[in-house]
Amino acid sequence: MFKIHNFSAGPCILPPEVLKEASEAVKSWGNNGLSLIEMSHRSKPFVAVMEEARAITKELLGLPERFEILYLQGGASLGFLTTAYNLIPEGGSAAYTDTGTWAANAIKEARHLGDIEVVGSSKDSGYNAIPHTPSVDSKHSYFHYTTNNTIFGTQYKHIPTEAGVPLVADMSSDIMSKKFDSTPFKLIYAGAQKNMGPAGTVMYAIDKEALGKTGRNIPSYLDLGVHLSKDSMFNTPPVFSIFTTLLTLRWLKNLGGIDAIEARNKAKAELIYGEIDRNELFTGYAETNSRSTMNATFQLVDDNHKEKFNAAWAEAGVSGINGHRSIGGYRASMYNALPLESVKVLADVMKEFERTI
Ligand SMILES: *Cc1c(COP(=O)(O)O)cnc(C)c1O
Repeated sequence: MFKIHNFSAGPCILPPEVLKEASEAVKSWGNNGLSLIEMSHRSKPFVAVMEEARAITKELLGLPERFEILYLQGGASLGFLTTAYNLIPEGGSAAYTDTGTWAANAIKEARHLGDIEVVGSSKDSGYNAIPHTPSVDSKHSYFHYTTNNTIFGTQYKHIPTEAGVPLVADMSSDIMSKKFDSTPFKLIYAGAQKNMGPAGTVMYAIDKEALGKTGRNIPSYLDLGVHLSKDSMFNTPPVFSIFTTLLTLRWLKNLGGIDAIEARNKAKAELIYGEIDRNELFTGYAETNSRSTMNATFQLVDDNHKEKFNAAWAEAGVSGINGHRSIGGYRASMYNALPLESVKVLADVMKEFERTI
């Protein structure tokens, strides 16, 4: 069988065993003859799925007691607004960095709720690097940053505690890819479809103590406190997305958890960046010390080679490496479920291309 090497930036590749189990559950799940997606979300088996999904998320991320997990709808894009709604008090403010399209969207949404100070930006250099984090005014409720910039292929290499205020992060495209210390965080959110599961749900990890302090009257669905009080079942949850995310997280746990996947992700990133740097036909997009382990962005030095290179990788079964329309070039997304073997295939295509050009 012809093997596809799926480098899609999102929705992402999922482990074959997860796809198998999820598709079987759509036909019939458990022992009552019903499909997972045609039964009550209040039924005992699905409540157990939600509970396990929340618990395994907390366990894999190594989050302490003060955090609670929610699986909601609206994606990370609604998270931009929800975050500000729940954490910026009436008349208050927050600090943000502008490191790419998603970070800029987060800033735009937060401006509905408070005075937003942009304390760092890499916009002028085409978002090809992570800007320096300054110490921010202590009046700010939090410092928000995007841990991994999916489109531009940059990633924070350390937790920017220099900001000096509690942190809030959009971790959509590198959640569950590496260990991190949760101590400075108030809230973390991540759309599931980049590294945890299919599209349709967004995960929030929220410090319970941080809620209920804004003095705002928050609309119910946007109020994280409402969702917490209902154990993430305020309304009908996206059952299929949450179930499949749970299967993916079980897969990750069986593999050895985040320690194990971090080592694999490092090996994949080293392989592809090694080839980008060695091969004179290609050049990396992001500055070396800002390079993402999840999304490697690169370009052909000579655009005249484009058609031939595109044919070469397609021929090898490589899929999804066209860069985002806003920057062009190529982007190899190497999420958790992508095997090292697929990266090896892409690196070999690049090597072989150099030999034949
Ligand atoms: C994809 C992405 C988003 C948008 O996620 P949606 O779930 O589609 O709203 C936000 N932030 C980052 C970092 C992303 O990669």
